[in-house]
Amino acid sequence: LMQLYLPLNFLGSVYSSLRNSLVDLEHMFALMDEQADITDSTHALGLPARLDEAPAADIRFEDVHFSYRPDREILRGVSFHVPAGHRVAIVGPTGAGKSTISRLLFRFYDVTAGRILIDGHDIRDYSQAALRGAVGVVPQDTILFNDTIGYNIAYGRLGATQAEVEQAAKLACIHDFIMTLPEGYATRVGERGLKLSGGEKQRVAIARTILKNPRVLLLDEATSALDTRTEQDIQAALHMVAANRTTIIIAHRLSTIVDVDEILVMGQGRILERGTHRALLERGGLYAEMWAIQAEEEAAGT
Ligand code: ADP
Repeated sequence: LMQLYLPLNFLGSVYSSLRNSLVDLEHMFALMDEQADITDSTHALGLPARLDEAPAADIRFEDVHFSYRPDREILRGVSFHVPAGHRVAIVGPTGAGKSTISRLLFRFYDVTAGRILIDGHDIRDYSQAALRGAVGVVPQDTILFNDTIGYNIAYGRLGATQAEVEQAAKLACIHDFIMTLPEGYATRVGERGLKLSGGEKQRVAIARTILKNPRVLLLDEATSALDTRTEQDIQAALHMVAANRTTIIIAHRLSTIVDVDEILVMGQGRILERGTHRALLERGGLYAEMWAIQAEEEAAGT
C-alpha cells in the first residue's frame, strides 16, 4: 500500500507546489499528461512553436478576469499588449497576481472573462500541445529529472544531437561546469544523483530553453539571492535568450528590468501603473517608490 501511495503523494505535492508558485510548468505537464478542466476545442488550431519556424509571437491580454475560487477575484480586468519581439516585465507585491498571469498564458487555467490572444487568436482556439510548444518557461526553481545532466538539457527538444546540447550548454554558461563532473554529460543529477545549486539549475533551464527555441518566453526571476558573479552571468544568458523573442518577465529586482519595453506595476489584481523605467520614475508614483526602497536596500547590502 505504501508503494502505491508514495508516488501519488509525490505527484500531489509537486502539483500543489507548482500550482502555487509557478515553479516548473513545463515539467508539470510532463508529469501529468492530462488536465481535467482544460480541454482542446474540436477544431483546435496549430501554432508554430519555434523561432526558426515563424517570427516572434504577438501577445494580447484583453480585460482578463480570473478567480481560482468563485468568491475571490484575483485578476480584475487586466489588459496589455506585448508586440512581437518586445519584452514586458510585471512587478508588484506578493499576491498581486503576477504568477497567475503566466499560468493563464500557459493555459494552466482558463480565464473567467476577457481573452488572451496569441497572434490574434484566442489561446483556447489552439491545441494545448501547440500552445505549450510555443511558450518556453524559465522558472524560479527548476525540477530536475533523475537522469543524466545531458538528458535534462536535451529535454528542451528531445531528439537534439549531442553537439546541439553542448552548444546550448555553452550559451547558458554551464558547459565548463559539466566538463568538471566525473562523467561529464552522463553524470546523473536530481533527487538520486548529484545535487545542483540554484544557479546551476537555472542554467540547465536556460540551456533547455535555448534548445526549445520557443516564440514566447516566460521568465520567472529568482527571488533568492545568488552570488553577484553568478547573478551577472545568468542575467547575461537570460538577455541572450530573450533577444528577438516575445518575453514576459516576472521580476523581483527592479535593477534587472530597467531596459525592458514596458513595465506593468500590479496590485490587487489590477495594473496600477505602466510605462518604461524612465517614464515610471518621472511619474513619481508606486514604481518610483519601489525603486527608491530597493536602491536603499542594495546600498545597505541586503
Ligand atoms: P504573485 O505572483 O503576484 O505573488 P499570484 O498570482 O501567485 O501572485 O497570486 C495571486 C493571488 O491568488 C494570491 O492572493 C494567492 O493567494 C491566490 N492564489 C494563487 N494560487 C492559488 C490557488 N491555486 N488557489 C487559490 N488561490 C490562489
